[in-house]
Amino acid sequence: MKEYVARRKGELKAEVALLDRKPGLTVVQVGHDAGSDSYIRGKKKDAEELGFLFRHLWFDETVGEKALEETIFHEANDPLIDGIIVQLPLPKKLDEKAIGRLIPLDKDVDGFLFDSPFDPCTPKGIVDYLSAVGFPFDGKNAVVIGRSDIVGKPLARLLTRKNMNVTLLHSHTSEEDKKFYLGHADLVAVAIGREGYLDGRFPLKKEAFLIDVGINRGADGKLHGDILPGRDVAYQSPVPGGVGLLTRLSLMENVYQAYKEHRK
Ligand code: NAP
Repeated sequence: MKEYVARRKGELKAEVALLDRKPGLTVVQVGHDAGSDSYIRGKKKDAEELGFLFRHLWFDETVGEKALEETIFHEANDPLIDGIIVQLPLPKKLDEKAIGRLIPLDKDVDGFLFDSPFDPCTPKGIVDYLSAVGFPFDGKNAVVIGRSDIVGKPLARLLTRKNMNVTLLHSHTSEEDKKFYLGHADLVAVAIGREGYLDGRFPLKKEAFLIDVGINRGADGKLHGDILPGRDVAYQSPVPGGVGLLTRLSLMENVYQAYKEHRK
């Protein structure tokens, strides 16, 4: 995955260097959340490395919806900006869905809105990566564990679009049923936020591909995935240094896609 991401970034950087205007990304943040601060640092680093314009607009927690609305409206009408992200989570008093809906579809590079022209970044990154390594999607069995709106559900949708037979499991699925479905899976993606959940209790095919989306801070202070490392399969994505890199790459690709649409 690391090599794939480095290669794609190199290609993107070379294309951007030839443009007469930089693709532009605005990130709107309210307050400080340790996760958000670190994700925004990553986005800034990627954007600057690729030669994008990066604008970080920060507000303290007392900001009202009206001020955010005006800011998003301003960025939406700025011809230098191709993509806008409202970094989640927002403080509880703010309505995340209502604020997200203020972003015009052509700048919704996170794929937040239901009818966004952009695929959500984490699922898009996973499918692009699997395509690049020649994973034979057609007619194969996928099991996605976790049904959140940002990962599990859209990933199931994109894998269905690739003609896979997709089973979406969640916290109400019995362990017995999980074992049954996992035992038939050619592709397993786990996005539940539970360190090492997919362990040896669950038998897997030796030819299976495992995609670990989970990011969990362990008792050792390090990051761990949802899948116990070292499963005996064809491929298992690492954490860290796996899906997180794909998510970051996908965001930059979506901004570039938006730029190309705006220049048409
Ligand atoms: P989320 O919104 O908390 O959803 C978790 C999902 O997991 C829910 O659908 C829940 O089922 C299901 N679940 C929880 N425990 C389960 C269990 N024991 N068995 C089966 N399903 C179970 O989480 P999320 O936002 O999708 O994130 C999931 C993980 O991915 C987190 O660790 C997050 O940090 C990570 N993440 C990583 C990236 C990346 O770029 N690498 C991006 C996004 C998220 P119910 O619906 O039944 O409650």
